[in-house]
Amino acid sequence: TTGGGKGDKYSDRATSEQVLDPRTRTILMQFLNRGIINTIHGVISTGKEANVYYAVSDPDPDSGSSRLQHRAIKVYKTAILVFKDRDRYVSGEHRFRNGYNKGNNRAMVKMWAEKEMRNLKRLYMAGIPCPKPVYLKLHVLAMGFIGDKHGRPAPRLRDADINGEETWDLLYQELVCLMRAIYQRCKLVHADLSEYNILYFEEKLYIIDVSQSVEHDHPRSLEFLKMDIKNISDFFKRKGVDTINEISVFEFIAKPNLGSRTDGETEDAATSRFLRELPRGTGEEVEERFFREAYVPRTLEEVYDVERDAEKFGRGEGSDLVYRELLAGRDEDTDGEDEDSGEQTDDSGEGGESDGAEHT
Ligand code: ADP
Ligand code: MG
Repeated sequence: TTGGGKGDKYSDRATSEQVLDPRTRTILMQFLNRGIINTIHGVISTGKEANVYYAVSDPDPDSGSSRLQHRAIKVYKTAILVFKDRDRYVSGEHRFRNGYNKGNNRAMVKMWAEKEMRNLKRLYMAGIPCPKPVYLKLHVLAMGFIGDKHGRPAPRLRDADINGEETWDLLYQELVCLMRAIYQRCKLVHADLSEYNILYFEEKLYIIDVSQSVEHDHPRSLEFLKMDIKNISDFFKRKGVDTINEISVFEFIAKPNLGSRTDGETEDAATSRFLRELPRGTGEEVEERFFREAYVPRTLEEVYDVERDAEKFGRGEGSDLVYRELLAGRDEDTDGEDEDSGEQTDDSGEGGESDGAEHT
């Protein structure tokens, strides 16, 4: 596959299923020339906003292994209108207050790819199972491939062949813990989380498709979080899981401190214990009991006003707020040291390719 002219490096499938525009071809040529990939094999997915291709690159000389490296190449489509829908994810986000230009499709698509790269990096650095961010150039993103050594991509959670109530229950717990880690460690809300954007590989869940993920202090982050929780609850309910009520899940994810650890307990172990201790079931009785015992607001509608309340709290008022503890946590967190960790990719122009480095 390495012989012949450059044109031979594309398999027939890759080109016949979706014709690549010249700009995309040029970028892929650069990827080939730089050894980021050396063969593009075919399409994993064609979507409204992006196509994902499977590719391999030469073995990593530093790794000492002779295994080929598998890549997924996500190509954002430039000739699309569906992106207008994404306005709500961007407005209000400080990272994009200058760089967002609705009138320019190419710039917009480049921005979505950048966002995906940044968010993926944050997840990856925090140890969340997700594709490894590898390289970004304009609207083309190279990342680690989640799938087997034969190039078969991992199924989406929706399509995964999983049996047994207990397995589903454990996966549910695993996912809710991941959502908490994404919120607390990465300071992000996925904002499009569902069984479609989670891959199931070697009995583990991998989070993908994070271009629309928002900062946890985005004005609508809690609304998106609620939506993510609902999607996940609905899906696992359909799989027979006796899910935790959504408000408790919300609190579990957003509350900085869940309780104290027992002697010698790791943070992760304590977190899963707190989750296991939450009441199951969505019956009224459980909800009732929960509201009697907990300090959280009675409906998520009240949480929606968190921005207004945060302001109130910031002015030193808000002692009446039932969830001031939660807000205090948010406040602390946003002053945290990684406030700007979303700015790793600099905004250099057309030639911007500052993300060439591999992360290990
Ligand atoms: P979109 O939903 O915007 O089209 P996604 O990022 O969700 O884009 O990718 C589309 C599909 O491509 C996924 O559902 C998944 O099946 C596949 N896919 C995406 N990234 C990877 C990856 N790193 N490894 C394997 N498969 C992937
Ligand atoms: Mg998707």
